[in-house]
Formats: sequence, C-alpha cells, structure tokens
Amino acid sequence: MKVKKGDLVLIIAGKDKGRTGKITRAIPKGLKILVEGINLKKKHVRPKRDGEKGQVVEISAAMDVSNVKIVCPKCGKATRVGYTVEKDIKKRICKKCKQEI
Ligand SMILES: [Zn+2]
Repeated sequence: MKVKKGDLVLIIAGKDKGRTGKITRAIPKGLKILVEGINLKKKHVRPKRDGEKGQVVEISAAMDVSNVKIVCPKCGKATRVGYTVEKDIKKRICKKCKQEI
C-alpha cells in the first residue's frame, strides 16, 4: 500500500469528502484504512453491568484506500506517491515536490 499508519490523508470520495485526517490503522490485505474522525459510524453499546446505560458511540469505520490521497508533509499538497530506490532502499516521494515522505 502507498499509505501507512500515521499518514495525513485527504478524503476524495464519500460523505467526508474534502476533509483530512490521520490514518490510525492500515489493513493492507483488504486495501482498507481507518482514518481518525472520518467515516464515523454509530455503534450501539449494550450495558455491561446492571444499572449502566447503553450508549451510542461513534467509531471510525474502515474505508477503501482509493478514497484518499496522501497529504505531503513537505509541501502540504494532496498528492500521489512515487517511489525511488536509493542504495537498495525504497523510498516514497511526493509526486509534486519530489521530497521524501
Ligand atoms: Zn510534496
């Protein structure tokens, strides 16, 4: 995957289009990611003990990695990711400013 945990991404599709958030979890197998505060789904939590109330909590649901674009920490633009190999180490670069990200 071109993105990883901790990356800042811009949402380009869906109800949160135009917002940015940080990736809290990447699931390479399913090409899915979880983004902080994005794609919130309401979840009803049952009371665990007597006397406790059930709650509705909002949690981030996994979304498709194709719905986001990485925001380059160097130039601040939403960009595509390129790769460069330097001394056998693969590095990610921003397609806009060519800096390593
Ligand atoms: Zn850049």
